Amino acid sequence: MFYTDTRDSNVKVDFRTAVLNGMNPKTGGLYIPTSYPRLNDTILNKASTPSFREIAFEMAKLYTDGEIPENDLNAIIADCYPFNAQVVPIDPTTYVLELFHGPTCAFKDFGARFMARVMSYFNRTEKGPLHILVATSGDTGSAVGSAFHNVEGLDVTILYPAGKISPLQEKQLSTFTGNVRALKVNGTFDDCQKLVKTAFTDEELRSTFRLSSANSINISRLLPQSFYYMYSSLAVKNRAPHDSKIENPSIIAIVPSGNFGNLTSGLIAKRMGAPIAGFVAATNANRTIPDWIASGNYEPRASVRTLSNAMDVGAPSNYERIRAMYSLDEVRNLFASYWLDDAGIKEAIKGCHTKTGYIIDPHGAVGYQAWYDIKTKAMLDLSSGFKNDPATPGLTPNLPSWSDSVINKKAVGIVLETAHPAKFGSIVKDAIGREPVIPDRLEKVMSLPDRAIPMENSYEDFKAWLNENLEK
Ligand SMILES: *Cc1c(COP(=O)(O)O)cnc(C)c1O
Repeated sequence: MFYTDTRDSNVKVDFRTAVLNGMNPKTGGLYIPTSYPRLNDTILNKASTPSFREIAFEMAKLYTDGEIPENDLNAIIADCYPFNAQVVPIDPTTYVLELFHGPTCAFKDFGARFMARVMSYFNRTEKGPLHILVATSGDTGSAVGSAFHNVEGLDVTILYPAGKISPLQEKQLSTFTGNVRALKVNGTFDDCQKLVKTAFTDEELRSTFRLSSANSINISRLLPQSFYYMYSSLAVKNRAPHDSKIENPSIIAIVPSGNFGNLTSGLIAKRMGAPIAGFVAATNANRTIPDWIASGNYEPRASVRTLSNAMDVGAPSNYERIRAMYSLDEVRNLFASYWLDDAGIKEAIKGCHTKTGYIIDPHGAVGYQAWYDIKTKAMLDLSSGFKNDPATPGLTPNLPSWSDSVINKKAVGIVLETAHPAKFGSIVKDAIGREPVIPDRLEKVMSLPDRAIPMENSYEDFKAWLNENLEK
């Protein structure tokens, strides 16, 4: 498999180059596959659902296409995924895809662990450390820190917006020692991202350090996220006829989104044969993408703070990849789009718990509510001519190609639950009256000392710090 660039389609690089560069240093563009090979039919059509690991291995084989021998790739996959994605039915036409069973309790573990092991594999033949710079609005930092901690040949600097992530998230990314450290930036997530992006295009800095990224801009974080779309859609395809009593239902993936890496991974899985009819792009008040789908104008903006803070992104990087894969018309056919404000998020956590008994986190809640509203009312209303004002929470006024299946009750939804509810205990408690049970792995980190290094929102300061502190 080869990779091209969202800004220059003449670019053609192998997997190794795409992984180690992070983004194309010449154009600032993002790597995407040049083609999407279909997963082989014996796996797609298996009567019993293949295991998550089997799917991961078969898909990774296509992505790396001989660049990593099968034995090594198998070992990498086994080391990445001692945990699983779990498909949990919460009502006859809704499944929650729990993506929080990894070490940091968020879906980013799936991408970050694969990225770390692949980078370390490719870096074995290089001289000196590979420096990873990563901007985070919450969960990226902890997933990347945890995935890279003590991995040979790799060194990680995490930037996060001071005061804009939860105390637990802060603990999870600022307590590492050794090859992983965190800078606490006096600014927003977009400021952090800009500092990192500027460093990547700084020729002088790049001649001193070998730099790479670890945000969802790195293709090696995006590709492994497609594993769980494939896995869950095949699992749901097999069991939904029993659970829902619908023969051959359309499967809709509902994705709580910020930077849109997760959703882009879903698009890749679909192209490779995952039985997914369509997507719901669900956001909080950072509704740049819903607005784009509604109006046709893409207007990136400053992020605003919400209860689902890992989705607080006003200028989603993966817009570029979505546009490179699909036209606006195609997006409007493939996606429904939905947004929710903070009051709606609290209501959604409460509503989900009351209706199903399931405790959902403030990110997954956006997806839950989008699907609940779409399947019970909003899609029918839209098809009967009611257009929700895009400035108020709800469904964006475009009818995707799969809308009839929802209106005729022939669809089931997979809501991606991107974090464990205990990571946002007080928000959940506000909504349902009690705190979720805290997994051991989260409890442990709370007692570690904080080691974050304060940093002004200034590229000069950031660059000077890198020059003084990183190993050359
Ligand atoms: C990162 C994150 C998201 C958003 O994912 P994107 O790939 O940036 O769209 C959603 N929920 C949680 C908990 C996250 O950590």
